[in-house]
Amino acid sequence: MKLILFDVDQTLVDALPHHEVAYERMFGEVFGVNAKLTDIEFWGKITPNIIEEIAGLKGIPKKEVKRKLADAVRKLEAFFQESAAEGKVKVLPGVRELLANLKKRGHRLGVLTGNTEGITQGILRGSGLEGYFDLFVYGSGAKDRAELVGKAMAEAKYRFGREFLAKDLVIVGDSTHDIECGKPHDAMTIAVATGFHSKEELMKHKPDHLFEDLTDPNILKVFG
Ligand SMILES: [Mg+2]
Repeated sequence: MKLILFDVDQTLVDALPHHEVAYERMFGEVFGVNAKLTDIEFWGKITPNIIEEIAGLKGIPKKEVKRKLADAVRKLEAFFQESAAEGKVKVLPGVRELLANLKKRGHRLGVLTGNTEGITQGILRGSGLEGYFDLFVYGSGAKDRAELVGKAMAEAKYRFGREFLAKDLVIVGDSTHDIECGKPHDAMTIAVATGFHSKEELMKHKPDHLFEDLTDPNILKVFG
């Protein structure tokens, strides 16, 4: 039995249009500026860091960002959920089949995302994928993704009543950050080229496996 942690955006789903709407509305309302998510390289990053990075780009003082961060996250979640109502989040090719197959084989599936809880649950509801996962680790309250992997391991032990060793841990994601976060934990990393990083860029970070998308029938084999 393996613990398989999936990134969300551009790995399981394409929710970009909803993120874009939410960020633009939030920055207008909370900070009074015209800012877009796509102003920065946001992929693989965690929500509070994305907000801080965009705010920095717009010249908003760090103190102000810190003071308004909680409100910014709350509004971002509300605007996202409004946009991503049921059935409106696009599931990427091969995802449902792969998740169903892995579950049938008795693996434990988790979500490890830079998104906050409200946004992640909005995505899972909006895409109908919520039933596949037993474990959720969100991007709020951690400094980076590697820390999130540590949280997931601890949570898994508590939840499933057994320890998952490095050899039982698999991370699946579309960005170089997903590959990198697995390394300090000696996890197996599977990169999928359905996001913003090219196959060449992903290869430079040496994932254990790289697939064009999750329709590839060879994916199941790497889980053993
Ligand atoms: Mg991603």
